Amino acid sequence: MTGCNENASKSLARIVLPLMARHGVPITPQNFAVWYSYAAGDNKELQQTLESLIDGGEPFTDARNTALYEKFGFGREARELKQLRESLLQVLLAILQEIAAIKGETAHYETFLSDSMDLLTREVAVEDIKTIVAHIITETKALVAFGKTAQQKIDTITGELTTLRRNFEQVRSEALRDFLTGVGNRKAFDETLQRMIEETGEGSRGLCLLSIDIDHFKQFNDLHGHVVGDDVLRFTAQTLKRQVRGGDFVARIGGEEFAVLLPDTTLEGARAVAENIRAFFSAARLKKAGSEEKLGRVTVSLGVACLQKGETGEQLMQRADKALYAAKAAGRDCLSVAS
Ligand code: GH3
Ligand code: MG
Ligand code: MG
Repeated sequence: MTGCNENASKSLARIVLPLMARHGVPITPQNFAVWYSYAAGDNKELQQTLESLIDGGEPFTDARNTALYEKFGFGREARELKQLRESLLQVLLAILQEIAAIKGETAHYETFLSDSMDLLTREVAVEDIKTIVAHIITETKALVAFGKTAQQKIDTITGELTTLRRNFEQVRSEALRDFLTGVGNRKAFDETLQRMIEETGEGSRGLCLLSIDIDHFKQFNDLHGHVVGDDVLRFTAQTLKRQVRGGDFVARIGGEEFAVLLPDTTLEGARAVAENIRAFFSAARLKKAGSEEKLGRVTVSLGVACLQKGETGEQLMQRADKALYAAKAAGRDCLSVAS
């Protein structure tokens, strides 16, 4: 799985590394995260910031790179992960300590038992036997009591581990979510595409991809403002989720570009889903949130492609994008199926 994720990121990595080199940005994990996100186009503010720095000919100094990393949330995520790692380490240490204590206690009991057995192999008086039995009872009770405390401690540790796992999953799912619309982001899309390709078998029902772009969205933003534009992006994401099945995957992979993965779907099925989406937007008349102000129509264009034998995710995306451009060229508010 990891190896394949690397494959999925390769296409963007190929763009990111030369881009960083061109702007004199050192290749560190932090800088790479920033420029990867920039190349993926999943953070508008980051895009605007970097573009104005580039246009202004500002150098990417270490201080500036660190500030960019901190500002755009990567710092926060990394800090949270570090905290989680440290907590996990502490829990593991507590487990080790507990195991050492259990080992010490059982070793003590074992020594005591073999000593008692030694005594019993010799000739001993009845009084001595009574004393030995009394000792065995005391030691056994102590071991049982110790076992109970150890059990309680282990229960506490298990509880801590469960909480940590939940926190970890939360940080991870945040890293895969598009901050504006709540659907998957570009990273989640890359990972899911790769996973779905691995899961796709032979046959006519395969993996299909819809590449979706809002028509004339720049004009819409210019007319109604970015805040209303952002509302439309959220509306688009929610609409796409409603129009597809539970096992399908919706992501915002660029500013006003979305992608939908349809596993176990025929080309005809994918075309029908795409046509439903197109028709829905074409018929909808939008109103400004919380008011009666009419915003008119926002249409979308779609490219449809289904995975061919031996095809990579990158190639599938290229074909879907090419179909999308064909739909745009054909006048928008329409769809095109890749050959
Ligand atoms: P086309 O029909 O050819 O796709 O035209 P377009 O105007 O939609 O495409 P273009 O690529 O020229 O412009 C995309 C616009 O999308 C630019 C920007 O105004 C808008 N946009 C991109 N990301 C965001 C965002 O996060 N929020 C808002 N409100 N607008 C965005
Ligand atoms: Mg676009
Ligand atoms: Mg557009």
